[in-house]
Amino acid sequence: MFLANSRSPKVTILRRTDSKQSVTKEEFAELFGSSAPPRPPRLSPPLPPLPASPKLPILRNTVPYPYLDEDDPLIKGFGLDFLLQNGYMNLPSKPNPDPGFGYGKHTTPAVAFRQYKGTGRNTDARNFVSPVEEQYYIHPIFSRDRWNLHELGSTYTPHWDALKPVWQLATLLLEEKVMSGFLCGMLEKSTHRDTNEPFDGEKTYSFEAKQNVKQEELWDLWDKIWRLKDIVKFEAMEKTRANDHTTFGVTIPEASIPGLTPSPMQYSSFDKIDEASCLLRLRYQLAMTLVHELVHALWIAHFAGLKEPFYRDYRYAELGWTHECLFVDGAIANISNRVVSPYGFSIVDWPGTGLVAGGFPIRASSDANLPITYFPVPMDWLPKHFTQQFWDNVQRFGLPAFKCPRPVHCARR
Ligand SMILES: [Zn+2]
Repeated sequence: MFLANSRSPKVTILRRTDSKQSVTKEEFAELFGSSAPPRPPRLSPPLPPLPASPKLPILRNTVPYPYLDEDDPLIKGFGLDFLLQNGYMNLPSKPNPDPGFGYGKHTTPAVAFRQYKGTGRNTDARNFVSPVEEQYYIHPIFSRDRWNLHELGSTYTPHWDALKPVWQLATLLLEEKVMSGFLCGMLEKSTHRDTNEPFDGEKTYSFEAKQNVKQEELWDLWDKIWRLKDIVKFEAMEKTRANDHTTFGVTIPEASIPGLTPSPMQYSSFDKIDEASCLLRLRYQLAMTLVHELVHALWIAHFAGLKEPFYRDYRYAELGWTHECLFVDGAIANISNRVVSPYGFSIVDWPGTGLVAGGFPIRASSDANLPITYFPVPMDWLPKHFTQQFWDNVQRFGLPAFKCPRPVHCARR
C-alpha cells in the first residue's frame, strides 16, 4: 500500500486579514496627484445569507480591510496609475472562459484514466470520444466533499458555480503531461542524490525530472493523484502571522485548524480597478495555489516527515514553488504583497529571497542578499489560460506555452 505509512495532508488556503496599510487623504494625493478624498471602495455585491450549519461552524464575519503596500517595488517604482495605463491591472473587456477549455486531444489520456477509475470502463485514449463530457472537466480531488468550507460544502451553488473554472484550470495543471517528469522524479526517492549539504542536521537530497515518461508511469502518477483525493481536505482560514506576506496556502499533515471564511475584499482608495480583472487574477492564483499545495501533499503522502528535496541545483527545496515556477518560468505573486489581488501580479526569478520561508532546506552556498528584479505581469496573458487556444498551444509547444511574458518595465529591490 503506497499510503500505508502516510499521514493525511490537509490543504489550507490562507488569507491574510491583518493589515497595517490604509491610505490617508495626503497619501492619496501623493499617489494620484489629486487631493480629492477617496471614493467609497467598490466591493463585491454582498453575499446572500447562508444557512447555518452546526456541522461546519466555520463561517465568521470578518471586517473588510484596506491595504496598499507602498513599499512594494512596483508600487514604489511606477505607481498604480502607471500600472493601470500599461495593461498590468485591467483588461479591456470582461473575459469569458471557454466552457470546455483545455479539453481537447491533449488532455484525453488523463480523462480516459479518470473515466477508467470512476467507472471501470477502460477506454483507449486514442479512441476517446470527443468532446469530453462536462463531468470530467474537474478532478474529483476538488469535489464538494473535499471542502471544509460552508459555502462550497453545502448544496448552495453560486459560489461553486463561480469557482468551476478554477477547479477546471487546477485539474488541467495537475494532470499536465509536461510536468509529469518533474513529479515522477520527485516521487522516485531511490533516484535522489545526497547533496552533501546538510540542513538542520539532516541530509538533503536533489532530484532530476524523469525523461521520456512512459504511458504506464504516467498512469501510475495519475493514480497517486487519484488516491490523494481520499485523504486531502481543503479549507480556508484567516492568516494572522504578521511577518508572512506571501503565504497563499499551506499543507499540514494531520493538523486540526479552525477554518474561517476569507475576508471580503476592499480595494483601498484606488477605484479604477476592474473587478472582473481582479477576480480573474484570484481565479488563476487559487488554481495555481491548489496545485502548489497538492504537490506538497503528494510528497507528504509518500514521505511524511522527510525534508523536501532540491530540484537539480535550485537553492531552495520547496516543491510547491519549484513546480509552480517551472510552469511559468518564475514566481508570480501579488503586487502589494497581498493574498487578495487588487493591483495585479508581479513575477520574479525564483527563488527570490522574499519567497524563502522557514523549514525548507536552503543551500548554505546561496546568497540571501541578491537583489530581486520584479516585473509586472501583463494582464492580457491571464485570460488565455481559460481558452482552448491556450491548451492547443500547450499541445503544440509544450512547457514554453506556459511561460509568463516579462515586459520591459521592472523594478529592483
Ligand atoms: Zn509551498
